[in-house]
Amino acid sequence: MSFQAPKGTFDWLPPRSEWALLVRDALSAPARRAGYGYIETPAFEDTALFSRGVGESTDIVTKEMYTFESRGGQSLTLRPEGTASVVRAVIEHGLYGGALPIKLWYSGSYFRYERAQAGRYRHFSQVGAEALGAEDPALDAELIVLAADGYASLGLKNVRLLLNSLGCKECRPAYRAALQDFLRGLDLDETTRQRIEINPLRVLDDKRPEVRAQLVGAPLVTDHLCGACKAYHEEVRGLLGAAGVAYTDDPRLVRGLDYYTRTTFEFVHDGLGAQSAVGGGGRYDGLSEMIGGPPLPSVGWALGVDRTVLAMEAEGLITERAGHVDVFAIPLGEEARRRIFPLVSELRRAGLAVDMAFGGRGVKGAMKAADRSGARYALILGERDLEAGAVQVKDLTTADQTAVPLAEVVEVLKGKLS
Ligand code: ATP
Ligand code: MG
Repeated sequence: MSFQAPKGTFDWLPPRSEWALLVRDALSAPARRAGYGYIETPAFEDTALFSRGVGESTDIVTKEMYTFESRGGQSLTLRPEGTASVVRAVIEHGLYGGALPIKLWYSGSYFRYERAQAGRYRHFSQVGAEALGAEDPALDAELIVLAADGYASLGLKNVRLLLNSLGCKECRPAYRAALQDFLRGLDLDETTRQRIEINPLRVLDDKRPEVRAQLVGAPLVTDHLCGACKAYHEEVRGLLGAAGVAYTDDPRLVRGLDYYTRTTFEFVHDGLGAQSAVGGGGRYDGLSEMIGGPPLPSVGWALGVDRTVLAMEAEGLITERAGHVDVFAIPLGEEARRRIFPLVSELRRAGLAVDMAFGGRGVKGAMKAADRSGARYALILGERDLEAGAVQVKDLTTADQTAVPLAEVVEVLKGKLS
């Protein structure tokens, strides 16, 4: 019997896996530079945290959660997203009692039982950032700029930012009612009709063409914003413009999670087909109270690592190998192996990336391995070199080869590679 990775999951293998690491780093680096601290929460939580925090009527809660009973009889769920866990941790540890806003970033695996397809997986990876406990348009703008800078630092050119405001508890009810009136007049299936009554904004997020076609004349949230929400949104837009971040107003943009208020945004990439969202987020002023915490107006985002790698592939940015060594060591014979092994360790301790030939293959196989490793230099140690107390340093780009005394090789290579 043989095994395969479960449906909707895949393995990251070298050299492509290097890009996943690189993307994770690049997407989190701007937040780290802006004072966001690292938080790590468990991969599973109390099921009720998500059903209350993410929203009972969302796709995530109704059909996408991996829920199981622990041996102790408690209902637990593999995290489908990061925000609810972060807010839970902030409440649990009373972090809101200190300086506000609390700025946190995280990264890890998320789990959703979705219809598996290109760019949509059941196990995927996100980088997230949240700023909790402040209502300030500069904070919304800061997070958006940090995400945009992360994508730009990867060389991505075709990431577009869509921006909207979903209003607040003052103006949302009137908009909700107007939208419900409109939606009730459409030709929709039973499930969608139920959704009109529970969470009509979610219907705007329906991806089916036959539904989209009917939504053309739907009332727009931006026409129903109260004065405070309008002013807040104008301020966010102005700050984004001032920071040189381009955006498109999208009055139809809603998000798949129930907790959003005011600012909402999505980053999309046009080279990814239907799974075009590479990241998204927004303000969630009511979430903390929904899960039993104090009022804590907050804003955050989650960026998809897997889809960002796909976007880079679509733009041809992944051409060379990302991970490689500087030096590849080739011992010819057992005595040479005994001598070169400590040298390899020493080179690594000196900060160089070094690999060596294993398995005692001949010089031809070892030279092939050296080429594949991406190394700039090969270190070849043969019997004659051993007698001379030297090692051959071969530049693999020019094929130039020189003998260097063993005692000097660390310094010589450090010099060549600096
Ligand atoms: P979509 O509209 O594509 O379903 P979403 O609104 O459910 O996305 P979020 O919950 O906002 O996505 O998650 C943030 C980001 O995480 C998305 O923009 C996307 O890049 C990534 N993401 C979400 N679900 C998946 C998945 N099943 N597989 C891969 N990446 C995902
Ligand atoms: Mg989704």
